Amino acid sequence: MAISVEQAQEEILGYIHVLGPERKPILECLGQVLAEDIHAESEIPPWDNSAMDGYAVRAVDTRGASEASPRVLSVIDEAAAGSPSQARVARGMAIRIMTGAPLPAGADAVVQFEHTDEQIRRASMEDASHIGILRPAKKGLNIRNRGEDIAVGSRVLPRGTVLRPAEIGVLASLGHSTARVVRRPVISVLATGDELVDIDVPLAPGKIHNSNTYTIAAEITRYGGIPRILGIGRDSMESLNEKIDESLSSDMLITCGGVSRGDYDMVKNVLAQRGQINFWTVHMKPGKPLAFGMIGRDRSIPHLGLPGNPVSSMVTFEQFVRPAILKMLGKENLAKPTVLAIIQRDVTNRDGRRELVRVTVTRHGREYHAVPTGPQGSGILTSMVKANGLAIIPEDTGGVKKGDVVRVQMLDWSRSL
Ligand code: AMP
Ligand code: MG
Repeated sequence: MAISVEQAQEEILGYIHVLGPERKPILECLGQVLAEDIHAESEIPPWDNSAMDGYAVRAVDTRGASEASPRVLSVIDEAAAGSPSQARVARGMAIRIMTGAPLPAGADAVVQFEHTDEQIRRASMEDASHIGILRPAKKGLNIRNRGEDIAVGSRVLPRGTVLRPAEIGVLASLGHSTARVVRRPVISVLATGDELVDIDVPLAPGKIHNSNTYTIAAEITRYGGIPRILGIGRDSMESLNEKIDESLSSDMLITCGGVSRGDYDMVKNVLAQRGQINFWTVHMKPGKPLAFGMIGRDRSIPHLGLPGNPVSSMVTFEQFVRPAILKMLGKENLAKPTVLAIIQRDVTNRDGRRELVRVTVTRHGREYHAVPTGPQGSGILTSMVKANGLAIIPEDTGGVKKGDVVRVQMLDWSRSL
């Protein structure tokens, strides 16, 4: 059956469900989705406090102040963050105050040091019991109001929020040491092929290192899953069966290899025994053959069979496995971020499939430029190393011409664009 990328995505996502919740320390929740509403049981800040280092005053006492005629107030105390002043600012008085200190009773404004004559007084060794205010202050000046950040009872973080450092900070400021989040999927990774050896084994003739397990496991981690590495399955029913048994306690199984003509039947047979399996010809390049099924006793574990070619397995991972992981994690935005860029070479696309061309995206003024990374063979893994994006060359167009605008899926944003 030949289907489009979108059809395959939709079909797969139809079988994927949001996982259950777990409670754990907030620092371990980075990138996960809240499984509960967070309401504020207290307000933040808990009291009016100073936004500046300066003097807490009554605004009326500063009326008419200027450099030429300072309003001189008597300094009755000091207040710092963590050591509030118990004194009351009455008429003609001020309290020296530091940022974050609670506003003393009676005061209604804070005059920053720069608008007082403190430096002049210090330089001339005048006593610190008085301060000259050089500018009039309005009521509320430099005061952070109680509850201005978070009001009591407000729903600060709704269920479904992705926890970034800012949200983790809000949880901490509300005194939460743990949070209830959607748990991360455990995803088994199985490489298949008689030619594969582990990375620490020297290569004999005809053998290659199993690299896909590592790219796939790294991708799983990158998008929030927990990889479980099953190693290498041989091209035999027995070996595959044994390995697949080990995957049955995970949330998803990813295999790579064995979906092209050569070993097609065997993988198909093994997986068909385990549940239901579909082999699709997806209209995309690289990565045409793709297997999808549900395995396990109650057919509850999704299995995605990626092609063995290193580039194909990564590109199909981005299109099909990434959204599945994000959905399991409870995320709503499943689409890969894209930019529109001007392609810098002709790219022909004769066979009618959607082509995902590895490109380097750079910014030139207001435009993004996309330069293909060179040879695009699906075994050339360094083409992925050079790329920061995948340019989408639409199906059935014959290709694009240099200067055309193409949509590019961004693989990373680490270069500033
Ligand atoms: P297959 O889909 O099994 O026919 O594999 C297609 C190509 O990808 C062959 O050249 C394989 O040697 C290669 N290949 C398959 N699995 C891996 C792997 N885990 N690591 C590196 N290359 C692989
Ligand atoms: Mg193979």
